[in-house]
Amino acid sequence: MRYAILADIHSNLEALEAVLTSLERERIDHYVCVGDVVGYGADPKPCLDRVRDLCDVIVAGNHDWAVAGTLSLEFFNDYAKAAVYWTREQLEDDDIAWLRDLPLTADVDRHTLLVHSTLHDPPAFDYLLTSYDAHLSMRVLKKSLCFVGHSHIPITFMERGGLGFTFADSIDLSKIEKAIINPGSVGQPRDENPEAAYAIYDTVKRRVTLHRVSYDIDTAAAKISDAGLPQPLADRLRVGK
Ligand code: ZN
Repeated sequence: MRYAILADIHSNLEALEAVLTSLERERIDHYVCVGDVVGYGADPKPCLDRVRDLCDVIVAGNHDWAVAGTLSLEFFNDYAKAAVYWTREQLEDDDIAWLRDLPLTADVDRHTLLVHSTLHDPPAFDYLLTSYDAHLSMRVLKKSLCFVGHSHIPITFMERGGLGFTFADSIDLSKIEKAIINPGSVGQPRDENPEAAYAIYDTVKRRVTLHRVSYDIDTAAAKISDAGLPQPLADRLRVGK
């Protein structure tokens, strides 16, 4: 089985389409999404429709639940808040209901699950960035593989005797006991590489590969400006921050 893992799409249709086009060549059996389908970008409705049609397993991101009214905006900065309010106006009632009903965690298969933020406290929507964060989530990870999103930074934490991490773009799962992998963000990369990120998990080869693809950033950024969304949300796409 070959899975495509999409994270943090953030209403960026140009990035999503570029990723899906490159995945057409990859013999994918199932598409899954680790949340934040919406928020920040200018195409929430088309992105939500694509993801809802395509993905078999989807978990809630903090922006998804914020738009749905399930999550307080207390910890959102002004730009994110403005995008949440604007996004609500672009969606139908059944889209909002769909976002509200997304679960915090979901199984992909017997060995694999998804969570947007951390596994040890999913509703807190904390970032899983440090080895200590990974240690806390590894302690409660009963399966061998967990995909996360939220930080928009592609990274793999793995247990092999002790806990380690790697930025390698190809992970041989047969050599490690447990892994927590962030594929990076489709629609708003923050690792100073503006290209859209995604991952492929091949269950037969026991391998996860991380990929990048260029997309039409000018169009995505222009749509954000034209929609009246905060300009920094357009500018950051060009620098991947
Ligand atoms: Zn996000």
